[in-house]
Amino acid sequence: MTSQGCSGKKSRSYVAKALREQIARDARHRCGYCLTSARITGTPMEVNHIVPESLGGPTVRENLWLACSMCNDHKDNRIAAPDPLTGEVVRLFDPRRQVWPDHFGWSTEEVGHRRLASTQGLRNEA
Ligand SMILES: [Zn+2]
Repeated sequence: MTSQGCSGKKSRSYVAKALREQIARDARHRCGYCLTSARITGTPMEVNHIVPESLGGPTVRENLWLACSMCNDHKDNRIAAPDPLTGEVVRLFDPRRQVWPDHFGWSTEEVGHRRLASTQGLRNEA
């Protein structure tokens, strides 16, 4: 069972309103993964556990960030996934500790995000 303020079916802990508001300020009211503003999504942002509770991630400010429902659902309860370019399993982007432009960029030739580097380092795209 989920509780108010938690993301999706994976989170179970209650996130107090004051903590939720702090997370929203930290995230500038945007999804940490796609950077979409809460004003644009038309639905409330979800509080995402960067390290999922199912993997021992605590419900504390340092482990929480905002995510839109689409990104949160896509991330699911993972902290790593196969790199679509190399197949290598890499750690997923951490919106609290890593810098978005170091890992992603926008391309006018492709729809969506263009990954620039893995979250484990700053390897250049081939
Ligand atoms: Zn998103």
